[in-house]
Amino acid sequence: MSSPELDIQNLKVSFSTPRGKLTAVNGISFHLNRGETLALVGESGCGKTVSALSILRLLPEPPAEILSGKILFSGQNLLSLNAKALQDLRGRSISMIFQDPMTSLNPVLTIGEQMAETLLRHTAMNRQEALQKSADLFGRVELPSPEEKLKHYPHQLSGGMRQRVMIAMALACTPRVLIADEPTTALDVLIQAQILELLDNLKKDTGMSILIITHDLGVVAEIAQRVLVMYAGEIVESGPARALLNNPLHPYTKGLIASVPKLGTIKKTGARLEEISGNVPSLDQRPSGCAFHPRCAWAIEKCKTQKPELRQADAQRQWSCHLEPGSI
Ligand code: SF4
Repeated sequence: MSSPELDIQNLKVSFSTPRGKLTAVNGISFHLNRGETLALVGESGCGKTVSALSILRLLPEPPAEILSGKILFSGQNLLSLNAKALQDLRGRSISMIFQDPMTSLNPVLTIGEQMAETLLRHTAMNRQEALQKSADLFGRVELPSPEEKLKHYPHQLSGGMRQRVMIAMALACTPRVLIADEPTTALDVLIQAQILELLDNLKKDTGMSILIITHDLGVVAEIAQRVLVMYAGEIVESGPARALLNNPLHPYTKGLIASVPKLGTIKKTGARLEEISGNVPSLDQRPSGCAFHPRCAWAIEKCKTQKPELRQADAQRQWSCHLEPGSI
């Protein structure tokens, strides 16, 4: 089997705060295979975005600090690269798109100027070539009238169009890895489906790997081959998407799946939508034992004091819970 595109080993990230050093990501390990789409899921505040931003060292250090771990890309540990080498890598080999394109695009520059800038920084193209390539990329992400769009400012485009521009920018240098942080959250359902389809098609065309961060299990079912579920800064379950969604092993995963509205069910039966009670713990109030125990309907006495280890359910699935598969 070929080596993974990205290999994250025991990554631990903390933030310095007036309340002391707080751990946001607590020793997570995972890999991203070539050409696969891996989803990192969990509620807000579980550490998904911090994990993703750490890969490209995009967290402000300080207050953030990567305490330990390795982030291997092509066998190279990104944590040991200097600022210049990281700058070269970002956008060229590993790209990122964010939830809200409006905060990532410069409102006073045209879309064409911003696209061209990315290409001029990472390639040997001249300005004319960069603008032509930008129009080609706009066509590829199915923006209507791509040449015209070069002259538009971000506010002149709809949310869906702005997200397509962000995807085009991220793809400008044909990266090997695309990190997409909640790329469809700000969009309506129809545009969301179009963007997911576009990402999937682009992945098939280019062979890139995608790490998608989302709290939306509908997105996972649509696009991911494999899933990692995060809670309180740790991975609590991982496995192939279909198996995990059909037969969750961890109570938290089961709760996330149960809280997804199913078309027609509620209207027909009048049933209330299930929810996971309580909230994700804040970084300075991590519960003892299993961090999920105050919210878990299956918690037993030892959950309050003993932290469950991440266990192997089969060759492809892992979960961390004191209970055995089939008991939830
Ligand atoms: Fe629930 Fe206990 Fe399993 Fe944690 S270890 S998920 S509290 S049953």
